[in-house]
Amino acid sequence: MYCTNCGSQMNDADRFCARCGQAAGGPAPNASYGPPPPPRQRLARDMANKKIAGVCAGFARHMGWDVTIVRVAFLAAILLHGLGVLAYIIAWIAMPRDDVRAYQPPQAA
Ligand SMILES: [Zn+2]
Repeated sequence: MYCTNCGSQMNDADRFCARCGQAAGGPAPNASYGPPPPPRQRLARDMANKKIAGVCAGFARHMGWDVTIVRVAFLAAILLHGLGVLAYIIAWIAMPRDDVRAYQPPQAA
């Protein structure tokens, strides 16, 4: 048989063309698959960019906002109402850390 890419003769037992590396029988079956889609940005505390507990950084990443804006908004809420601290603590407790997401527990069938 002949290589589908460069046309050089191949042995029937060869799985790849010795000249250009083309897989026998055409491109590899998975060649049309693109790279895997990026993981979704779930709401989680951003451990890499945290200042206190990563709540502001996690919100900013989730919403696509600048983390500075989120931090300023939190500080403004603290100064103006005193509710920012409570909101921060609630978010701290409620939001998962993003540095433990590597382990995915097996799904029950
Ligand atoms: Zn070839």
